[in-house]
Amino acid sequence: MKERRPYEPEAMWKERDLSSGKTVDTMVAILRTGGCSWSKTGGCTMCGYNTASMPQIGETDLMRQLDLVAERYKGEPFVKFYTSGSFLDKNEIPMTVRERVFEEFSGCERLLFESRPEYIDRDVAGTLPSNVTVALGLESSNPEILRKSVRKGFTPEDSRKAGETVRDAGLSVRTYLLLKPLFLTEGQAIEDSVKSAKYADAYSDEISINPLNVQRKTVAERLWKRGEFRPPWIWSLVEVMKQLSGNVEARLMSSPSGGGTQRGVHNCGVCDKKVLDAVEKFSFTQNVKDLEVTCSCEDKWKNYLKAERMLGSSADIERGISNDLALRM
Ligand code: SF4
Ligand SMILES: [Zn+2]
Repeated sequence: MKERRPYEPEAMWKERDLSSGKTVDTMVAILRTGGCSWSKTGGCTMCGYNTASMPQIGETDLMRQLDLVAERYKGEPFVKFYTSGSFLDKNEIPMTVRERVFEEFSGCERLLFESRPEYIDRDVAGTLPSNVTVALGLESSNPEILRKSVRKGFTPEDSRKAGETVRDAGLSVRTYLLLKPLFLTEGQAIEDSVKSAKYADAYSDEISINPLNVQRKTVAERLWKRGEFRPPWIWSLVEVMKQLSGNVEARLMSSPSGGGTQRGVHNCGVCDKKVLDAVEKFSFTQNVKDLEVTCSCEDKWKNYLKAERMLGSSADIERGISNDLALRM
């Protein structure tokens, strides 16, 4: 494995994303940082980003990372800066680094970064360039799910206030929702994401549905290894999009990490790519017809929802059954 150096970004790549209603070239940089302050107190149950951070990273390293980003940047209109936490957390991204990013990228069409709500107030929002989109990880609008299942450390209300503050400053908001937080059945998860999107719609320009992806060294991984958690079906993601299409004003999108793998959102294995492609297409077009794909495993998914309801369990029924069969054979 390549040695990880504090002065190199975690990753950089180019992709296509929407800005001002059209698809444009986009540059993505994941800065390697000292890590999310919340993750140092245990963090969220599904988040393994602390494994990507290096506690010793400081201003000098981050400035060198920005030099490398600048070298790679070729004038793409949309630039996204991810960290393994919050761009607006001064402990993670010192002010000088923040100011340099704003200086170098305030001229592009769109600049996106993520932040927890506690780092956003009117004063901070007032200092952000006009091309900024702040991405807020609401995950769920249900306070109990947020507290017990996600262990987010803030309330839906905190996220809403931060979103409104960003909007009041004339900037845009992308809200992330977590599809299938731990301990929820597949059916409850669909319902939760639909409700949460309607909640976030009031202050979000975009809503990104992120199916839980089992990351290493997380509570989610412990449960998954014991067969107590199955990442959501892609059909559930499609269902959420279908139920929301036409019922929210925000643009709906999803670009699942680990899609089609056992750790990520998945179906039967045969149709995964086709259905994920449909979700990607829908994310750009917002045309619900693009979600009209089929596979025989859709019935299996429907039966899974029924079986879960009957058993009242969020354990991985499918895996339980196949393990049981394997034991009997
Ligand atoms: S999900 Fe975000 S807030 Fe939660 S621990 Fe990970 S980086 Fe921090
Ligand atoms: Zn299938």
